[in-house]
Amino acid sequence: MKKPILVIEDEINLLHILKLNLEYEGYEVSTAENGILGMQEILSNKYEAVILDIMLPKLDGFEVLKEIRSQGITTPILALSARSITADKILGLKLGANDYLSKPFEIEELVLRLKNLIATNPNTFNIKEDKTYTFLDFNIDFNQYQIMNPQKKFKKILSQKEAAVLHYFFKNEGIIINREQFINTIWGYNANVYNRTLDNIILNFRKIFEANPKSPQYFTTIRSIGFKFESFNQLHHA
Ligand code: CA
Repeated sequence: MKKPILVIEDEINLLHILKLNLEYEGYEVSTAENGILGMQEILSNKYEAVILDIMLPKLDGFEVLKEIRSQGITTPILALSARSITADKILGLKLGANDYLSKPFEIEELVLRLKNLIATNPNTFNIKEDKTYTFLDFNIDFNQYQIMNPQKKFKKILSQKEAAVLHYFFKNEGIIINREQFINTIWGYNANVYNRTLDNIILNFRKIFEANPKSPQYFTTIRSIGFKFESFNQLHHA
């Protein structure tokens, strides 16, 4: 079945280019040319992901984000903006965008980010489909939500959120993931409540996987930005 995507964009040329390219990639693409129509679409249909321009007539992208997230809709959103101002990006992420791309962008990058957004969204994608990995001496089984190290007779059952965080790290190896991205993707948009939970989960991963949890080499903190996972070729799909 084709995955339905919504593109909300008022620049008609860009809208057509996006539609053509995404259809070529195998998505079923709906379009809206202003914020009000776009919001109505999101509220009345189920999309795998939404590409949302920020500068829109009638209702801007920030307002659309605020409104749909306040209604509890967790559809992954990739925001687009002509301005590459960091404040815009942060506001977008705070309001519940899962990712953000500044114009002009390469279509290839947009497609990659979109795929990633869908692949890592625990609400629309069952991480169990991704099955098992090995990392260092550990087997990680997303079917059973467990981490095992047979040699050390170690076994830990993961909570759903822990599994989702670990999976997100694995899927985004080498990429700095900021807090908002993490929280928007895994918990939905209500960030502050869960900040410490995320830290605790990552702390636990360090205790399990790191030789020295206080000086991690795989699950690192990027000060005032977020976190990064690097496997140094120790991560494999089992
Ligand atoms: Ca626009």
